[in-house]
Amino acid sequence: MRKNVLTTACLVATAVTVTYILMNVLSCHHQASPGVAEQWKPHDRNRPQPPVITPGEASTQEQPGKPPSDAVILFDGKDLAGWESVEGGPAQWKVGEGYFEVVPRTGDIKTKQAFGDCQLHVEWATPDPPHGEDQDRGNSGVFLMSNYELQVLDSYQSQTYPDGQAAAIYGQYPPLVNVCRPPGQWQTYDIIFHGPQFDKAGKLLRPAFGTVLHNGVLVQDHAALTGPTAHGERPPYQPQAAKLPLQLQDHGHPVRFRNMWIRELADAEK
Ligand code: MG
Repeated sequence: MRKNVLTTACLVATAVTVTYILMNVLSCHHQASPGVAEQWKPHDRNRPQPPVITPGEASTQEQPGKPPSDAVILFDGKDLAGWESVEGGPAQWKVGEGYFEVVPRTGDIKTKQAFGDCQLHVEWATPDPPHGEDQDRGNSGVFLMSNYELQVLDSYQSQTYPDGQAAAIYGQYPPLVNVCRPPGQWQTYDIIFHGPQFDKAGKLLRPAFGTVLHNGVLVQDHAALTGPTAHGERPPYQPQAAKLPLQLQDHGHPVRFRNMWIRELADAEK
């Protein structure tokens, strides 16, 4: 009897330990956490040094800024070489002086390269003078991993449903504040995105997370996405690749973009 109790206690202890290790492995996978810090003594000089990079420069209304030195440039002000139409073939959007612009009804465009966890910088401007109201006013969108839309909209003195305004994670989370600039002015999104994780059987282990600064102000704070974004519904996650193209929306309005760059995020420390 006593032996049985001991065996049971032993099994429970093993299960608890295994669960703890698994949880640690999973939580360490993407972000710095106590589990990672504890692998090193305080101030251990054998700990690998972070890579050295050159910082970028901020944009002004007149002049796009410069990306940090380790960024992948998505638009260099000259052409859409890194992009293609979602419907196949070259991107049909217009390139102007230092920017590109949605050509209505030519379809969404996507990057040729696929991305997963990332830091993404996007600058956009809605048409001036503005046209239309509500969702029909300077509408476009940034689709992380082709599936998760950060809304682009003219929300300056113009209302729509809160989870569909500028800087909303469409249909899920309104921004914490509305920090929209007037139509025609350049606005920035700085996005930290972590894609969802699935096990080998396709079961969701961890949802996607999004943090967003709009014009330098925090508007999405580590928001846990419910699944892909959609109109009028919240579809569940479907197993997907770890990296997918970044996509921009043709919603029928000539919205402009410039100075787009992305940094792929590796595990904080292995
Ligand atoms: Mg949109």
